[in-house]
Formats: sequence, C-alpha cells, structure tokens
Amino acid sequence: MRNFKNYLQENGYKIFYTQLEDENNRGSFDGELLKFYQQLKPQKIILTEPSEYRVLKLFNDFQEKNNVVLEIRNDERFICSHHEFAEFAKDKKTLLLENFYHQIRKKTKILMEELPKKPKAKSSSAPELKPVGGKWNYDKENRQTMPAEIIPPKILKLKTSKITLEVIEMVKKKFPNNFGDTDNFNYATSAFEANLHFEDFIKNRLKNFGNYQDAMRQDVDFGFHSIISAYINIGLLDVLTCAKKVEEEYFKGNCDLASAEGFIRQIIGWREYIRGIYWFFMPKYRDLNYFDHQRKLPDFYWDENKTKMNCLKIAVQQTRQNAYSHHIQRLMITGNFALLAEINPDAIDEWYLGVYADAFEWVEMPNTRGMAIYADGGIVASKPYCSSGNYINKMSNFCKNCYYDVKKATNENSLVKNACPFNFLYWNFLIKNEKLLKNNARLFYPYANLKRKSPEEILAIKKSAQEFFNEIKI
Ligand SMILES: Cc1cc2nc3c(=O)[nH]c(=O)nc-3n(C[C@H](O)[C@H](O)[C@H](O)COP(=O)(O)OP(=O)(O)OC[C@H]3O[C@@H](n4cnc5c(N)ncnc54)[C@H](O)[C@@H]3O)c2cc1C
Ligand code: SF4
Repeated sequence: MRNFKNYLQENGYKIFYTQLEDENNRGSFDGELLKFYQQLKPQKIILTEPSEYRVLKLFNDFQEKNNVVLEIRNDERFICSHHEFAEFAKDKKTLLLENFYHQIRKKTKILMEELPKKPKAKSSSAPELKPVGGKWNYDKENRQTMPAEIIPPKILKLKTSKITLEVIEMVKKKFPNNFGDTDNFNYATSAFEANLHFEDFIKNRLKNFGNYQDAMRQDVDFGFHSIISAYINIGLLDVLTCAKKVEEEYFKGNCDLASAEGFIRQIIGWREYIRGIYWFFMPKYRDLNYFDHQRKLPDFYWDENKTKMNCLKIAVQQTRQNAYSHHIQRLMITGNFALLAEINPDAIDEWYLGVYADAFEWVEMPNTRGMAIYADGGIVASKPYCSSGNYINKMSNFCKNCYYDVKKATNENSLVKNACPFNFLYWNFLIKNEKLLKNNARLFYPYANLKRKSPEEILAIKKSAQEFFNEIKI
C-alpha cells in the first residue's frame, strides 16, 4: 500500500493516506471513512466492487446513514461477474466446479481449439471449440509423490526495500506476540516485483507443477507451486495475463499439458468458482455448520510445539514462517484435522484468515467451510475431503518422523498411546455422522468397510477419540 501510494503520488494523484501507526488513525475502516468524509465532504464516493461482503455492507450502511452517492465499479481482478455466476448457478441442482470450468475455458478460449466447420454450417456461425489435447482435465496426472532426489528450486530472493524494512520494524513493535515470523519476509510489495516472482515460477517451477501439485515433504516449503495467490488477490498480478502466459509456455513446448492445464484450472477455474460461490450464498454461507461442530481450535494451531503430530507440526511451522502453505496442506492436514476433530467453523475461519498472506474471506470461507470441512453440506464438494493417516503417509514423508504410528488404528490394549490420531478420528467421524453421510455414493466404500468392523473395534475407535479430545483439551 505504501509503494502504491508513492506510485500514485509520483503520477500526479492527490492522496490522503493513513498509516497504521499514525496518531490520528481511528483504528477501523469505517472510522477512517467517516473521518475523510467529514473532512473532504465529497459529492460522491467511487469504489471498486468490494471483494468481501462485510465491506460492501459497510459502504451500503454508510451510504444510508450519510445520504451520499455511491458508485461501485467492476472488480477487474476477476473474469466472471456476479451476474454471470448467478446465470450459471440458476436452476442447477449441483454447482460442482467442472461445468463452470468448461464455461470459463470457452469464454476465455484458453487451451481451446476450433473444430473444423461442418459442411452445412452457416459461414456466420461461431466456430465450435474443443479443449486442446482432447480432455478438459488432467487432474489424475497431478497426484505424484515427490521423491527425495527431487529438489525444488529456491524461490527468487527479493531485495528488501527501505519501506519494507520500516514496516517490518513497525510490525515487530506493534504486534510482538502475534502468530507469524517477519524474519523470512520475501513477498513482493509492488507489481514489478510480483512479476519477477511470477517469471521465476514460469522459468523454474512450472515444468514440474503438474507432477507434484499434491505432494508434501518435510524439507520442502513451496515445492513447485507458483506462490502468486496473494499477488492476484490484491491486484499486483492479472489473472488472465498469468493464465495466457502459461498457455504460451505450453505451446512453446516449455511444459507439458498436465502442468499447464493444472495451473490454468486453479486460477481461472477454482479461483473464479470459489468467488462465485461466496457471493451467491452470502450472507447465509458464513453461518453454515452442517455437522453442528462446536469444539474449540486446539492450541497447537497457534504453537506447533504443542503437538507431537508431525504433519500438523510441520504445516503450522511452515505457515508461521512463510504465511503460506500449499493447497494440500491446507486441505488434507490442517483442514482434514479440523473436520475430524469437530472444530467449530468460526474458529477455523478465524485461524485461516489470520495466518495466510493470501487470506480474504471471499476465498478463505468457501475453501474451508465448503471444501475442507463440508460445513456447507455439499455445495462445493461432493463429499467431505476426510482421510485417515493413510493418505498423509502416501503423499508425504511426515509419518516417518512422527511420534505416532500411522499403521496403528486405535490405542486399545496398548501401553503406549501412539496410534495415529487421524486413524481413529476418521472412523469416529464416519460413525458419528452415518445418518448424514451413508447415502452419499462417493462414501460407499468407507461405509462398506465400517460395516465390517466389530462392535469391539467400534468401541475402541470411540474411546480412543474421546481420550484424544480430552488430552488436547478441546
Ligand atoms: C482450507 C483452505 C483455505 C484456503 N484459503 C485460501 C485463501 O485464504 N486465499 C487464497 O488465495 N487461497 C486459499 N486457498 C486456496 C489455495 O490453497 C491457495 O490459493 C494456494 O495454496 C496458493 O498458493 P499458490 O499461489 O502457490 O497456488 P498454486 O498451487 O500455484 O495455484 C495457482 C493459483 O490458483 C489459485 N487457486 C488454486 N486453488 C484455489 C482454490 N481452491 N481457491 C481459490 N484459488 C485457488 C490461486 O490464486 C493460486 O495462486 C485455500 C485452500 C484451502 C483448502
Ligand atoms: S502418523 Fe499420523 S499424526 Fe503422525 S505424521 Fe502421520 S498422519 Fe500425521
């Protein structure tokens, strides 16, 4: 923001800007808005469409109270407007990503090719389009594990500017006890720097993006991911430009189709879809709690030293150091655990919003309540993304270094209580929510397996889960 202010001033704009540490800072968005409104007495307030519901409400309330004219302009950080999403969603029983993604691919013509015109087609009719390579989606090729000999390249190190150093010092003073580490700060703070980071991804990581998109490793923080979410969310990078650049790399032969399509699906598919879901279902979306989960968030989400679960320890540690963890860690480690441990969705939102550099409610909430914890009852996901320790063991090397035994199902008849908590919590979750979930076709096999468990096994699962909840005091 400070760089942007300077940029605007250098380009002749008159700027009124409040710094966090300014004495006359009223300490809230509406407080500052009112201050400037009273001081400047504008005829009209022009703003870009707010990305979060609470900001739109704040402006609408402000308009009503102060009788001011409000002009809201389109948000160019997105390809799909609210109206377009509402048209897509209208009359549909399910709103799963895939159909939406096809529509956006056709609209943007990214990774699409024209079919030859049929002999009887009118010369004025629009050509039919098909996905390059014949398939829309190469998701199945994006799930490899990352062997030890694969060493992902380091992220481009940016020179820390004077402004950034000043802000780091201010943050250290003002928020000494907050979660997060300023020592590793390596984020771009201007559009120019954000572009350098994106180019670094294109040159050094895109080639392997597809292969290792879902892989996790203890010694790897960023893998082959792009680390651009924070930049596109605040408008330092443009989503279409990024997608087109990746398409161009594929056509030049610099990456395979699985990598190009995988990346393009994330930014023009998932990102737009998630935003559409948010605005289509707000404000009621923020109250959804399908399983009525009410437990508090365990302390170790704020302090990794308070858990012996290695996967969670690493995920929280990397989050603290980098304000980042990649999608699968957010979904299958911190998200999966929060679901299985029956954590209240408000506490989950608070954590995800507080710890990631890219976090804004419009994207955080449908990803947590929708994708990770199924609190929306199936609007985003066709089944809860829950898993036992098996999945984590398959996709990472966390279990090899863990106090807990990933092969052990429960703590019954065992002196050392070291069964992997993901194992008994997984079955405990399925048992408790059988009524809500057993008719979901995608959970046919888990429920068929549950049926085979003896009453003693079921009891042992429930007992291990309860003991664990007591131990972590939730
Ligand atoms: C529980 C949970 C919470 C999340 N919270 C946020 C959040 O607060 N802010 C945020 O930007 N993303 C969030 N995501 C989505 C995703 O995890 C991040 O966008 C991604 O990890 C950012 O890293 P990257 O830039 O290296 O992404 P890459 O893996 O390189 O992907 C490229 C881009 O695609 C977009 N993208 C990928 N997946 C998603 C998705 N599911 N939703 C929206 N955009 C997506 C991002 O803009 C990302 O930069 C969340 C996911 C989960 C499961
Ligand atoms: S054993 Fe269980 S708790 Fe430990 S790292 Fe593996 S999945 Fe996580």
